[in-house]
Amino acid sequence: MQSKKSFDLRCQSDIEDRAKEFVQTLEPKNGKAVTVALSGDLGAGKTTFTKECAKIIGVKENVASPTYVLMRIYDIDFKGFKKYIHIDAYRLKGKEELLNLGWDDLIKNPEHLIFIEWPEMVSGAIPNDAINLSFLHGDDENHRIFLRQI
Ligand code: ADP
Ligand code: MG
Repeated sequence: MQSKKSFDLRCQSDIEDRAKEFVQTLEPKNGKAVTVALSGDLGAGKTTFTKECAKIIGVKENVASPTYVLMRIYDIDFKGFKKYIHIDAYRLKGKEELLNLGWDDLIKNPEHLIFIEWPEMVSGAIPNDAINLSFLHGDDENHRIFLRQI
């Protein structure tokens, strides 16, 4: 059984620390991409966390929210990963639309590190071994809760 650990995010340094810890756990797989699925309501902190991870991994460009472009691909050189792929599935109407973005090829490539927001919009397409992260709104405007498998 997978157990989940919950962390409070109350300030920028909490987000940075949790992102650093998480990024350290990422390792390329044999014959397939690593997929990170980020769940949580609008404004719960998925994009914020993704951007923080991108910075740590060495993405130079500003990581814009891909809500309107669906997918952005960045060059990286991190532990054998060569592409950092950020997808926001919020506007997708099902997994067919994800497949149209070339999803099958994206998840086959072990040099790909994929962060996908709103995985529940395309649930049938998310690999079983995806790493699941969840974000929740907390007690106030600046409090979020971050859950990850340990
Ligand atoms: P999502 O991608 O889940 O819709 P975003 O990361 O785009 O969420 O937005 C989260 C918003 O909440 C941002 O405006 C961010 O500045 C704000 N925020 C406030 N406190 C936090 C926190 N502790 N962690 C993450 N985001 C926070
Ligand atoms: Mg987002």
